[in-house]
Amino acid sequence: MRFETDAIHAGQEPDPTTGAVVVPIYATSTYAQEAPGEHRGYEYSRTGNPTRAALEKALAALEGIAVDAPGGAVATASGMGATALIGYTLRPGDHVLLPDDAYGGTFRFFARVLAEQGVEWSVADMTDPTNVRAALRTTTRVIWAESPTNPMLRLVDIAAVAEIARESGAVFVVDNTFATPYLQRPLELGADVVLHSTTKYLGGHSDVVGGALVTRDPELLERLAFLSNAAGPVSGPFDAWLVLRGLKTLAVRMDRHCHNAALIAGFLEAHPAVERVWYPGIASHPQHDLAARQMSAGGGMVSFLPRGGVEAAHRIARSTRLFFLAESLGGVESLIEVPATMTHASVDGTALEVPSHLIRLSVGIEHVEDLVEDLENALHG
Ligand code: PLP
Repeated sequence: MRFETDAIHAGQEPDPTTGAVVVPIYATSTYAQEAPGEHRGYEYSRTGNPTRAALEKALAALEGIAVDAPGGAVATASGMGATALIGYTLRPGDHVLLPDDAYGGTFRFFARVLAEQGVEWSVADMTDPTNVRAALRTTTRVIWAESPTNPMLRLVDIAAVAEIARESGAVFVVDNTFATPYLQRPLELGADVVLHSTTKYLGGHSDVVGGALVTRDPELLERLAFLSNAAGPVSGPFDAWLVLRGLKTLAVRMDRHCHNAALIAGFLEAHPAVERVWYPGIASHPQHDLAARQMSAGGGMVSFLPRGGVEAAHRIARSTRLFFLAESLGGVESLIEVPATMTHASVDGTALEVPSHLIRLSVGIEHVEDLVEDLENALHG
């Protein structure tokens, strides 16, 4: 089936008992058994839950894994829960290669949690795949990429890095949170695992925190499912249901996010109070050709530098009325933030310097003219 159809139907058959067309929230911790050890596929909800299972099937389908093909998804309690499961696959002495401007929480996890367990990490500027090859160690077990990155919206050539990962034997994990499978499918480009913070576009309404890992490799899937059950950061049925509901409208929301973001990027680029704009969908983006190759549109995130430094950035972030000043992204409502003092404040010194006056916009699906007016007013102060 095609993407829009899978989003509504994959893993989402009418309920076998009642015919309900929407997968019910199976709010149960345990399941009655016919005889000791004889159950109907579910024993205990940390191990498996039908609402979560439906979400996992839908996520796998959207990342390009056909319903009966090997592989699948593991839905977690948050994006960081998914990151933690990758962390549990590592042992002391193993090395992880991270991009130099990944999501701040990803750095925090590797630098402040896994490093204490003896897992080594380093960063590379992954905009050039040769840097990835140069940074490999004999102990590199995971190559981690984010594309587009948060918040500088830089891209990684996923197919090129997948080739390097394959040659080196490392597992290639791509955080696909910013692009979503609607715009980019890393598994089809050769990645081993896709990671999502479903809190963002997949949930889409800023009302749930969740995460997921998706892989075509049945052994890796089994290992990740084992770790999820053994360590416990699973998605609860209410949260899984919210993400599943969000997925149904992902395609139409993304079309509008991309449309609005492209217009806003153009508006900002032409504005005298703006120094520089980053948006993968416009020609001025340094990797615009790569964006056109591996993404079907530029996404909903726009970053820019206002003239006037930090003071101007903070004034603008305080002045918008429709763009709420808040962390996170990917919801229907527009958000504005200053990463250096908000989402990226705790990662100083570990990563690419995020300019202190960089503003990041998560462009929502409101009417674009209202959004432009809001920004125009804020830029004028
Ligand atoms: N990856 C990216 C790109 C993110 O932006 C975030 C959160 O902002 C995460 C992972 C972590 O996800 P969560 O907040 O759902 O734990």
